[in-house]
Amino acid sequence: MTEKQGGSDVRANTTRAIPQSDGTYRITGHKWFTSAPMSDLFLTLAQTEAGVSCFFIPRVLPDGTRNVFALQRLKDKLGNHSNASSEVEYDETVGWLVGEEGRGVRTIVEMVNMTRLDCVLGTATGMRAGLAQAAHHAAHRKAFGADLIDQPLMRNVLADLAVEAEGATTAGLWLAGLTDRSVAGDEDASLLRRIALAVTKYHVCKRGPIHAAEALECLGGNGYIEDSRLPRLYREAPLLSVWEGSGNVAALDVLRAMAREPQAVAAFFAELDAATGADSVYDEAVAELKGSFGVLDLTDQAAMQFGARRLVGEMAAALQGSLLVRFGHPAVSDAYTRTRLAGDRGDVFGTLPHGVDTAAILDRVTPKIG
Ligand SMILES: Cc1cc2nc3c(=O)[nH]c(=O)nc-3n(C[C@H](O)[C@H](O)[C@H](O)COP(=O)(O)OP(=O)(O)OC[C@H]3O[C@@H](n4cnc5c(N)ncnc54)[C@H](O)[C@@H]3O)c2cc1C
Repeated sequence: MTEKQGGSDVRANTTRAIPQSDGTYRITGHKWFTSAPMSDLFLTLAQTEAGVSCFFIPRVLPDGTRNVFALQRLKDKLGNHSNASSEVEYDETVGWLVGEEGRGVRTIVEMVNMTRLDCVLGTATGMRAGLAQAAHHAAHRKAFGADLIDQPLMRNVLADLAVEAEGATTAGLWLAGLTDRSVAGDEDASLLRRIALAVTKYHVCKRGPIHAAEALECLGGNGYIEDSRLPRLYREAPLLSVWEGSGNVAALDVLRAMAREPQAVAAFFAELDAATGADSVYDEAVAELKGSFGVLDLTDQAAMQFGARRLVGEMAAALQGSLLVRFGHPAVSDAYTRTRLAGDRGDVFGTLPHGVDTAAILDRVTPKIG
């Protein structure tokens, strides 16, 4: 999808596809980012007379010859080194139309929705991996005469990281189930996924880098050393937020869903309502969110866009809260709603308020042997 001038704005793409008498297209243009260029087939966007359309490009043509697919350069990246991201030139490359001509964005979004889910699951996994390393280190490192994991401030940091990781994991797995149902033809699930995926992609992937940085710091200087594997998690985390619609684009996508598909908003609040009655902090937060939706002016796009991150962040926290209240461990859901919904915390990890059951939360991240 991504071209130099057309990244998030794929409609600005200039790659062209010319129809041939045998039903194929000849595609010419340049792609600024192409991940996994060793693949056997690619989905790509190109302009036809009807507009942006989606095409299937095989590396090898049916007669056994190689298609034109010139790898110009591998990207020199911050991280993600196991993925050979490249710049690619098509020069009369043979492709087949996928989906309706001129509706390429709609077609390719089916794939993008899957990879957006990957970004959420990848971030949740990264959080868990970082937390596991941090908790393990703290359980075995002594400082000032006691194991780090027994020291109150470190317990606060680790428990806060754990609450975040559980919220992200619960939301990711719930979204995966929603995706299964949606792909199987469940229209209610599709409607809810339309908004919940963008909300969660925005929020979880935004939280990834700061979570990775804090998990790294739990190992002190050793966390900054490659052997600890924390640097790799740290480098990977921002990419999951950039990919498949960077933070702003994901937040704006939620606004688009709100404007075009009000039923999706109704489905979202129905999902939140399913968790009410069990946690008064959660109930209040949902009532407040509903109140703020009541005064939104969707026609004032400038104001809506200006406030999009804040609104979508609140929606995401409410959704994670609802899932934890229903399906999570009580200590985790209590900590989540008090801190992420009622705002009873500081602006960094390790600022949980007194009274949170850190013992129960940490018990879940420090597996016992024997
Ligand atoms: C390692 C790597 C691999 C990649 N692999 C692929 C690949 O295989 N295929 C592919 O197609 N792409 C790939 N990409 C590209 C990636 O998906 C894009 O970089 C990403 O979607 C953002 O597009 P952009 O870089 O053009 O940024 P831009 O669109 O220029 O955006 C720049 C910033 O502005 C924000 N922004 C954009 N529009 C608005 C707006 N209206 N209001 C407010 N803010 C806005 C964005 O959120 C972003 O923060 C890859 C990128 C990387 C780093």
